Amino acid sequence: VTAGVTQTPVSGAAAAPIPDFAGRLAKTQAVASDAGLAAFLVAVGPDLRYLAGYNAMPLERLTLLIVPASGRSTLLAPRLEGTPARSSPAAAGGHVDVATWEETEDPSRVIAEIVRGSGGEQDAGPRIAVSDRLWAMHLLRFQSALPGHRFESAAPVMRQLRIIKDAAEIDLLRQAAETTDRVLQAVMHGPLVGRTEADVSREIRDRLIAAGHDVAEFAIVGSGPNSASPHHEAGARLIAAGEPVLFDVGGRWAGYCSDTTRMVWVTGGDPNNGPDEEFTRIYEAVRDAQDEAAASARPGMPAERVDAVARGIITGAGYGERFIHRTGHGIGLEEHEDPYLVSGNAEPLRAGMAFSIEPGIYLDGRYGVRIEDILVATESGAVALNRASRELLVVDGR
Ligand code: ZN
Ligand code: ZN
Ligand code: ZN
Repeated sequence: VTAGVTQTPVSGAAAAPIPDFAGRLAKTQAVASDAGLAAFLVAVGPDLRYLAGYNAMPLERLTLLIVPASGRSTLLAPRLEGTPARSSPAAAGGHVDVATWEETEDPSRVIAEIVRGSGGEQDAGPRIAVSDRLWAMHLLRFQSALPGHRFESAAPVMRQLRIIKDAAEIDLLRQAAETTDRVLQAVMHGPLVGRTEADVSREIRDRLIAAGHDVAEFAIVGSGPNSASPHHEAGARLIAAGEPVLFDVGGRWAGYCSDTTRMVWVTGGDPNNGPDEEFTRIYEAVRDAQDEAAASARPGMPAERVDAVARGIITGAGYGERFIHRTGHGIGLEEHEDPYLVSGNAEPLRAGMAFSIEPGIYLDGRYGVRIEDILVATESGAVALNRASRELLVVDGR
């Protein structure tokens, strides 16, 4: 326990619930001991942020959280990163010990000592679970430092823990979503005509950061025919009057991801430049698909059924072949994580799961439509964290 270190609440979350790092560590430990694992080795990445709130750089110098089947967990860091490691929420809260290794030391030997001391099922050789983001260069060293140990993926366990969001996480996802809504509304109501996509994209990123995002990960601006390419890179194309613009933007808010898609139609002030008939038709099909899929997403519903609901509506409108991606993805510490709303994933939704619902229709060479919200499943159905209207916004844009 580090006396005198105050646990500062995450940015922008004054009255927010504090993440329960002790509870998350205890659950991980219980799983390790039930499964007969000697330890979990958790490298820098989303799993480490989940268990310890520690957001370090992944480097050739090893930082690793060791969660043994019993006893206290250790956050091992290079000596020069001892201070940030000790101020990480889990360490400052007294839930993990911090150990540092010297520049001339081999950290895998330190880890071998800690792991050997932690026991686990011994007959067939102790088993160690490693996080997905552990670099191969580190894993290969652990394997030679711990001969006779069997290494396996920690992903199945981490996935089950992270797939259900607690109140603190939902709070952060909501703040991320609401901030993104506000930024998008401001940009969509501002001048667009005659600007390059790249310029508007830069404005979105700047506004996301100014509004409190840690990072602005992506800001897709697809104007006219570029809206038909789902992952279009904002480029040099000038936005013109009489065309749609697709915005798909996201970043991280206190570690948690935002991801929202909205569209405008830019008239340039000419009433004859409004949306044409086919655009209106595909927009309404996508909006209905988004609405119906969101209404269908409730606990017990297999993830793939939500995809089938959205796809059914778009197919019914005659555009099934133009809906070329899954309906949604889980979101949390990673922008894309479990559960995926896609054909083939029969996993039932459960309260606390957070995911996007983002159907689309793409007509190559003309235009495309996508609408995306982030939702959280509750016992009584899914609730959208985004509040911005999903109706087509028609703007002057000058
Ligand atoms: Zn995407
Ligand atoms: Zn998106
Ligand atoms: Zn998305």
